[in-house]
Amino acid sequence: QSAASKTFEATQFKPTPNNLEAFFMPFTSNRAFKAKPRLFVKAEGMHYTTIEGRKVLDASAGLWCMNCGHGRKEISEAVARQIAEMDYAPPFNMGHPSSFELASRVAALLPAGLDHVFFTNSGSESVDSALKIALAYHRARGQGTRQKLIGRDRGYHGVGFGGISVGGMVNNRKWFGNALNGVDHLPHTYNRQEMAYSKGMPTWGTHLADELEKLVALHDASNIAAVIVEPVACSTGVLVPPQGYLQKLREICTKHGILLIFDEVITGFGRLGASFATEYFGVKPDLITCAKGLTNGSIPMGAVIVSKDIYDTFMGSAAEGAIELFHGYTYSAHPVACAAGLAALDIYKNEGLFDRVKELSPYWEQAIHSLKGTKHIVDLRNIGLIGAVELEPRAGKPGARGQEAFIAAYEAGVLTRVTGDTIAMSPPFIVEKSQIDQMVTTLRDVLNKID
Ligand code: PLP
Repeated sequence: QSAASKTFEATQFKPTPNNLEAFFMPFTSNRAFKAKPRLFVKAEGMHYTTIEGRKVLDASAGLWCMNCGHGRKEISEAVARQIAEMDYAPPFNMGHPSSFELASRVAALLPAGLDHVFFTNSGSESVDSALKIALAYHRARGQGTRQKLIGRDRGYHGVGFGGISVGGMVNNRKWFGNALNGVDHLPHTYNRQEMAYSKGMPTWGTHLADELEKLVALHDASNIAAVIVEPVACSTGVLVPPQGYLQKLREICTKHGILLIFDEVITGFGRLGASFATEYFGVKPDLITCAKGLTNGSIPMGAVIVSKDIYDTFMGSAAEGAIELFHGYTYSAHPVACAAGLAALDIYKNEGLFDRVKELSPYWEQAIHSLKGTKHIVDLRNIGLIGAVELEPRAGKPGARGQEAFIAAYEAGVLTRVTGDTIAMSPPFIVEKSQIDQMVTTLRDVLNKID
């Protein structure tokens, strides 16, 4: 048996400072982690198993991606079948059936008019692809001066140069030079004084969308290509949009011929109790980026969904027989990822999982807000099956209390997600009410114990 074909039990990997050293870990304190590693070796349903054999309840769906829960046989069997049958097919100038089938199935989840799907391998690639498509669209219709991209403070759009430029996280940008030119940012929509402990969408803050008019006045609409926002900004602490805010952004973009991009890498595939946030909020963007839940996190894959107008513009502007979009990846529409995607979409449908999110949301909201008054908590936020517990930062040490709470919760058997001093939770849609109770009880206990 080769090492690669052995299960964990067979290889008996023992973490030591030596054999942890080679892996340069992403978005992690390598030194802290390697001094005290946290390794998962199995996943089933709502739980991970650690290398020590301890079960940990997954309150974060991996990294917001395991919407159907772990160890889904339908997906692993579809993946195994596809690898055996045809492991790879080139996506340029050639095709394979399941890519067309998956694109149709994804488009069918979206409102009419959002019906063309470009495949990528991650959320970051989806964002950079969407920004490039926006620029090329304007050029193709004779408005090539539209080159400015507008993002938002506290936005997270992955780690490509496009994504970090439109994103609004200083730490993700400051190390990497100037990134893209011609980018500006809207203010974020969070204001603790006005909206602390709001349930669902805050009533304050709709007017913040008017800031877009100021940027249009500054740069002139003829120079602006697109605005990109996460309908719910999840990775920077779960910032729920104020009521009417997204509608207003849509109106201003339409008025000025600016494309609106919704980054639905997290909100896509049911997280809010609707297929996509566009359906949940009743606001139709021109492009949508997605990833994560597309394959239930099992195989890397992302997608950009574009409007009929955008697709038709590309088709109509290129010469007969010419390539319409000079962009693509070796692994665009990888057959194994397509197999995983089709199996995940079947599970969502057959098990009514998006409706399950809708049904669980009131219970989830009540559970999250039952933490009000717990030590250290300064705000609680929720929407769909997403919740955030914001802690007062330790004096002079922002993020330290959040990190400690995250580790303590993990040690107490619950995996959450930490960003600064906010603990975020976003369980798989198969979560039971008793498991929601366990998440909340564990967090309360943990917060009572830490300084
Ligand atoms: N966009 C959003 C809104 C995200 O939340 C993420 C990841 O969390 C990304 C983009 C980047 O996705 P990936 O890590 O797959 O590149």
